[in-house]
Amino acid sequence: MPYRHRFTDGTEFAAAPGKVVCVGRNYADHARELNNPIPETPILFMKPATAVVSMTDPVMIPTDRGECHFETELAVLIGAPLCRASSAQAQAAIVGIGLGLDLTLRELQGQLKAKGHPWEIAKSFDGACPLSWFVRAAEIDFDAPLRFSLTLDGVLRQSGSSADMITPIVALLRFISGHFSLLPGDVVLTGTPAGVGPLLPGMQLTALLEGGFSLNTCVVPASLD
Ligand code: ZN
Repeated sequence: MPYRHRFTDGTEFAAAPGKVVCVGRNYADHARELNNPIPETPILFMKPATAVVSMTDPVMIPTDRGECHFETELAVLIGAPLCRASSAQAQAAIVGIGLGLDLTLRELQGQLKAKGHPWEIAKSFDGACPLSWFVRAAEIDFDAPLRFSLTLDGVLRQSGSSADMITPIVALLRFISGHFSLLPGDVVLTGTPAGVGPLLPGMQLTALLEGGFSLNTCVVPASLD
């Protein structure tokens, strides 16, 4: 079945999945762990709709292109067109908050970065963006930090809070929409906290959005044929 965005109550979101806009280095601790400078403005890149899969299915990773890293990120589901949006418009366009994995072929990305080339083939392959369910925005207290974590084989590997973002969610939506339009069904991945590392077939994952849901899944190799 093709992927559709879903809320935690099982309801499908009306709009088909669109592009995924991702933000690099939005947490200082992760920028430091990869020896990257902290950017002055958000670093944006995109994953196409074909990269999106459901995190409720086993996470399929390529096994023939070097290490595939997990990056666990708050995912913002967009419900209204945003173009040069105000803060109020950006806030009103958020229909749900979930979690996403920004799967990254890290060795390939490193080679591309070293050459100064775009890194799409390391981050935009089919299945490169597993997404969870979304908690409806009406059920979320946006004045409190949104906390989330990833546990791998029973070991806590990443924990993050929206309070630690260099550019917070609404400011991020404003920045993005100042450069290109966001449409209903688009998703914004808001950057990863520290603790990224390789995924291996057979690993068990638990993605937790505090106050929202806990989702268990596992890692399988993508078939090579
Ligand atoms: Zn990321």
